[in-house]
Amino acid sequence: MAKVKKTWPLHTRILAGLVAGAVGGIAANVAGASSPGIARGVETAIHYVTGPLGRVFLNLLFMTVVPLVFSTLTVGVAHLGDLKRLGRIGLRTLLFFLFLTSLATIIGLGLVAATQPGHGFDRATQDRLLETYRGDLAQRSQEFQDRGGFGVHTFVEIVPRNPLSAMVHMDMLAVIFFSLCLGIALTRIRPDLAGKLLGPLDALSEAMIVVVGFAMKLAPWAVPALIFNVTARFGLELLEKLALYVLVVFAGYALFQFGVYPLLISLFARLNPVWFLRRLVPVMVTGFSTSSSNATLPTTLKVAEEELGIPSDIGGFVLPLGATMNMNGTALYEGVTVLFLAQVFGVHLHLGQQVVVVLLSVMMAIGTAGIPGASLPMIMLVLAAVNVPPEGIAIILGVDRILDMGRTVLNVSGDVVTAAVVSRWEGTRS
Ligand code: ASP
Repeated sequence: MAKVKKTWPLHTRILAGLVAGAVGGIAANVAGASSPGIARGVETAIHYVTGPLGRVFLNLLFMTVVPLVFSTLTVGVAHLGDLKRLGRIGLRTLLFFLFLTSLATIIGLGLVAATQPGHGFDRATQDRLLETYRGDLAQRSQEFQDRGGFGVHTFVEIVPRNPLSAMVHMDMLAVIFFSLCLGIALTRIRPDLAGKLLGPLDALSEAMIVVVGFAMKLAPWAVPALIFNVTARFGLELLEKLALYVLVVFAGYALFQFGVYPLLISLFARLNPVWFLRRLVPVMVTGFSTSSSNATLPTTLKVAEEELGIPSDIGGFVLPLGATMNMNGTALYEGVTVLFLAQVFGVHLHLGQQVVVVLLSVMMAIGTAGIPGASLPMIMLVLAAVNVPPEGIAIILGVDRILDMGRTVLNVSGDVVTAAVVSRWEGTRS
């Protein structure tokens, strides 16, 4: 009799891997703390096994991002047809992004005001953390400056001088701008000519989605490896010191992910939120393990189209934009962190300054790139604007990677929520 081989569905295997990776990593961390021999063994395993495995997975995903954004966005825009419809969808998308981002920051601020995690943070711990992470901070600031920092040029360079160079450097806003222009232009030339380019681009976009499928086959092994790398190196002692802060950030994430999004999904997209969240699992897990909205974009596009039935022209327009501009988790995290550090340093922020924090956090979240740790330099700008010492960010640097994983889940989920809502508003899905 033939044996029926039972396998768990892919997302269950990825989730199980995530838990296994976390448990294994924490165990390795604890064991490493008590024996230098074990600690060296863990480092070797990270260096030769889990590190490379995680990087291969990330590279596979990143490999598809530029061709995918370029092709889906160009085809999406060209298929949206007339400029009036494109303008309407664009406006709705941007307004919904702004709404989500502002709401997230306000919730973050509210949570810190209610729980006051920064009060009672003792001076000695504060000094030690500042001392330990000063070097890291200097390096990050330098990298940010090397990339040109933040200023008028950040906006000017959305228009690329050279689209190929924008693609090579994964300068996503510039790639998006070029694709939008090309998509619009294709609606203005003879349809038979436009078709000659649209056909191959359509094929490229479909093929890239298949490649993402290959990468996802690796996910049940790569996700535990990525999580292991973080948790094995992560000092649990640090987590204890910052426990209340980390707890408030995660409470905010949970509230948004499992409260606000489901509410908006049933209210505006008229979908069953439980059904929606279940289908979102691969997106959430990929966001969590990669800490990168860009690396998650291919999965997001695949799930939106294949699982949620969001039309590809709307998904192809909203999702690449979202992966670059819509960072709800980042905004929430910024609200929490700025107010937390203000409390730690005993800086009182009056209402006007809190409004400044909201406005700046929204702007900075929009300017944050969809890569790991991208929001840290941006937070320093917000801190400086309200007279909280920006180097205070060093206090939370040690736990940031874990928080980054969580905020990326919100970032990518918010993109799909927006795509579902816009798609409903456009009447393209029942
Ligand atoms: N890692 C986040 C993302 O890719 C950005 C951030 O650092 O907040 O969405």
